[in-house]
Amino acid sequence: MLILNKTAGVFFKPSRRKIYAFLGSFHFHPGKLFLHKLVLGIETSCDDTAAAVVDEAGNVLGEAIHSQTEVHLKTGGIIPPVAQQLHRENIQRIVQEALSASEVSPSELSAVATTIKPGLALSLGVGLSFSLQLVDQFKKPFIPIHHMEAHALTIRLTNKVEFPFLVLLISGGHCLLALVRGVSDFLLLGKSLDIAPGDMLDKVARRLSLIKHPECSTMSGGKAIEHLAKQGNRLHFDFQPPMQRAKNCDFSFSGLQHVIDKMIMQKEKEEGIEQGQVLSSAADIAAAVQHTVACHIAKRTHRALLFCKQRGFLHQSNAVLVVSGGVASNLYIRKALEIVTNATQCTLLCPPPRLCTDNGVMIACADQIDQRDN
Ligand code: ADP
Ligand code: MG
Repeated sequence: MLILNKTAGVFFKPSRRKIYAFLGSFHFHPGKLFLHKLVLGIETSCDDTAAAVVDEAGNVLGEAIHSQTEVHLKTGGIIPPVAQQLHRENIQRIVQEALSASEVSPSELSAVATTIKPGLALSLGVGLSFSLQLVDQFKKPFIPIHHMEAHALTIRLTNKVEFPFLVLLISGGHCLLALVRGVSDFLLLGKSLDIAPGDMLDKVARRLSLIKHPECSTMSGGKAIEHLAKQGNRLHFDFQPPMQRAKNCDFSFSGLQHVIDKMIMQKEKEEGIEQGQVLSSAADIAAAVQHTVACHIAKRTHRALLFCKQRGFLHQSNAVLVVSGGVASNLYIRKALEIVTNATQCTLLCPPPRLCTDNGVMIACADQIDQRDN
């Protein structure tokens, strides 16, 4: 059984054999015979309060999510105490909704799985303390989940992917390239040296005041940039992808963001408008920004793929690149990555958009994904 060492403040992950032996005792309920484990997944690492109930075959029995995007758009970014408060206000309802949708009561659960890291400490704390109360009240095992591992393994819910594979995680809070050799066996190949791409796109969208654009007012920054870019001409601006000479697989976005900021300031002068108004060239800037970010991500990923193939870390003939995280829902970035995978005879796989962003399903499944018949 999973042991939660409260006094030491440390989580010990028990052996799978012990978890399974323990979970075996939860299969029977008067009137109902559960053939599967039923795991409740709870995610509060950043700005999404999410929960889901999943059985051991990966069937999603019920899920619910509350996104804080609209509030954070208004305040101009995620303010951790605000995110914490919103998680507190919503977690009970979201967990209840997931349980009701799945027609499972807390006593019928086999375990509760919750994101414990990485993420915003204040946000993580809400999910964790809620989960601890729940496992304490209903005497359930607790499964601590690493958020990035959950993102990386989600693809195994929808596709037959064998280890090893390369994973690119691109979101608002994360940016990394890793070789996934097995569950909990990751080799980090590259990461952002500063901010994540979603964070950068959110900042550029804010600087462009896209919240005032009638078509983008409720969209996250990244989504607004993608939407507007379709109407723009990227060739009107020339931003250089960062780190072109760096012989590694790391990323950087804050230098580029600074260059874009300066360009926006210059355009505001030229158009004679104040900061806070939408530039007439906003769509062209969005298109150029999206293109530059896509090029940077694709180039670093290309290096990682070549490196892994050269070293024999990935299969020569059927290597797989998995891309996940909120930014992975950007179709232009996906297209750039497809060019890279086609050129290196690799397969590109992306989870469906609802599983790309933070969600409860990936948390509920993370600990059991390697048990599937893949
Ligand atoms: P996190 O919670 O770590 O920020 P998520 O997986 O929830 O990550 O993703 C949110 C991020 O994804 C935001 O930064 C948002 O701007 C970005 N994003 C969402 N949709 C798109 C899109 N279509 N193109 C680019 N970025 C996007
Ligand atoms: Mg999020």
